[in-house]
Amino acid sequence: MQELLDGYKRFRTEVFPKRAELFQNLAEHQKPSTLFITCADSRIVPDMILQTNPGDLFICRNAGNIVPPYGETHGGVSATIEYAVMAVGVQNIILCGHSNCGAMKAVLSGNKHPTMPTVDSWLHHSHSALQLLESEAPQHQKWTEKERLRALTRANVVSQLQNLRTHPSVAAGLTRGSLNIYGWVYEIHSGEIQNFNSQQGRFIPLDENLPTPVAQPRLQLMAS
Ligand SMILES: [Zn+2]
Repeated sequence: MQELLDGYKRFRTEVFPKRAELFQNLAEHQKPSTLFITCADSRIVPDMILQTNPGDLFICRNAGNIVPPYGETHGGVSATIEYAVMAVGVQNIILCGHSNCGAMKAVLSGNKHPTMPTVDSWLHHSHSALQLLESEAPQHQKWTEKERLRALTRANVVSQLQNLRTHPSVAAGLTRGSLNIYGWVYEIHSGEIQNFNSQQGRFIPLDENLPTPVAQPRLQLMAS
């Protein structure tokens, strides 16, 4: 606890005064461009990875970077997505998984946790990822544990992107063309990000070029 208090002291005396103008500008409003959905894992620090400032990212975190399908759970994730799209007006949603994810390890093991019923219940939202792994790579049982975890982590990002589309605010934004969604995986050991390219059906390292958003339907009702 002491290191947290020491950090707070440094923030108040050293960091805050240097950024006082930024915090004053943010005091009454925010206009982040992006909703960033990621795991609760302590090793993922979005503002460090993307070198963003306070006010840049609207962040939603939970074990396994899971997005329950719309209507099944009216919980914090669904409310945060709806608010970010409808009230804050974000233009991007990035769903970011990561290497060595404890939630994905639990899903892969298939073990139940009698003392953690809430965790088990939450992780059932990732079973679609397991099914995706089974159907797309039936030979995965022969892979190493590390390879299977990597594949499941990627499958989970794709599965959660599918769930994300079931939210009316997201579906409408995608169809209007006012919203782009992205699926990323962050590699803790190298700091690299892989972007899901839905046209190619694979993850590609993120570079200085703008990443390809996940393909989306467009509709122009007024067009003849
Ligand atoms: Zn995780």
